[in-house]
Amino acid sequence: MTNSFGIYVHIPFCVHKCSYCDFYSFTKYQTEDFKKFTEILCAEIGQSHRFLKKWGVEPAPIKSLFFGGGTPSLLPVNFLATIIQALEDQFQFSSDIEITIEANPETVSESFLESLKLRTPVNRISLGAQSFSEQNLKNLERLGSRESIYRAAALLKQWGYVNFNLDLIFAIPGQSESQMLEDLVEVASLGPTHVSSYNLTLKPGHSLFSKLPKDDFVADLYEKMVERLQSLGFEQYEISNFAKPSASCEHNLLYWSGGDFLGLGPSAASRFYKEGVFHHRKQWSDFGKYLKQTHFEEVSFESSTQSQTWLEATFLELRKNSGIDLERFYKRYGYDPSSAKQFSLFLKEGLLTQEGNLLMLTRKGRLLADLVTERLVDV
Ligand code: SF4
Repeated sequence: MTNSFGIYVHIPFCVHKCSYCDFYSFTKYQTEDFKKFTEILCAEIGQSHRFLKKWGVEPAPIKSLFFGGGTPSLLPVNFLATIIQALEDQFQFSSDIEITIEANPETVSESFLESLKLRTPVNRISLGAQSFSEQNLKNLERLGSRESIYRAAALLKQWGYVNFNLDLIFAIPGQSESQMLEDLVEVASLGPTHVSSYNLTLKPGHSLFSKLPKDDFVADLYEKMVERLQSLGFEQYEISNFAKPSASCEHNLLYWSGGDFLGLGPSAASRFYKEGVFHHRKQWSDFGKYLKQTHFEEVSFESSTQSQTWLEATFLELRKNSGIDLERFYKRYGYDPSSAKQFSLFLKEGLLTQEGNLLMLTRKGRLLADLVTERLVDV
């Protein structure tokens, strides 16, 4: 069975560090760094390709190419085009490849989109809206505003980027249920094809940590959000992701289906399934070291154990509304989650449901997804 294959490119630049952000991003850079970064990234592409060959991996044509960040829309389009060309020189692009770039609303300008359209095959944009409430945006220390989200969405449509996602955050301190639902009304008025919505998580010590809403309220908000998005025509296909018909994100699906992906850039993880286990490669999370790197081939992969692989695969696949196809799962991973001791109990308690070969979390089960997953791999 050939694994599906995608590439994630991490673009680490941000104008400012949002207080809640855990991603590796870099705010102290000069414009010359864009060129240097692109040159190193292109070297990494060539060396990674050679490494995969040496390692015996012949990747399938790329189904999904995802530029994440950081704020990828800060990288001038000519450099994005150079990176895409370098990838095309080494890897085969599938004829229906999905190429996504994340963008913050305040960075989306007419000239950026015009150049993106003329110089690149990017066909999907993921807009980091997070909220439409000025107070929430201020609490999150976002640079964008409600107005910039509207302006960016209008420009996307004007330039033919009708396939776009809005990223949202809910359970922000002070956010009421009605405010959260109002955000969703605004979402609908902008007409994205996809919505990703995650509850806010903060580390202890953050000024808003003690103000985070209680778990029961978060669960309640989540339930209401799912209902409202569904009533607006978005089908939930994963715990936190919703799409209009045929607009699910290929990159997400590849990730949650256990597909292979190569991560490029200073803080991109990679994962390959080979000889019955997952192999992961983590990178440096250090921009300075990344720019000095010369031997990407030497960055080796760490192999998961058999039970770690089963746990990861169960965790990923159960997040999808379509759940786990038990027969396919057994053929691929050699493990049957329905053989776990607590399996029947989870069915009885309404946390899991089984339809023929398909095993899925129920709505109640989705709220306890981590716990259920952990107990489904009791080896
Ligand atoms: S813009 Fe995104 S990546 Fe950059 S600091 Fe804010 S949340 Fe993090």
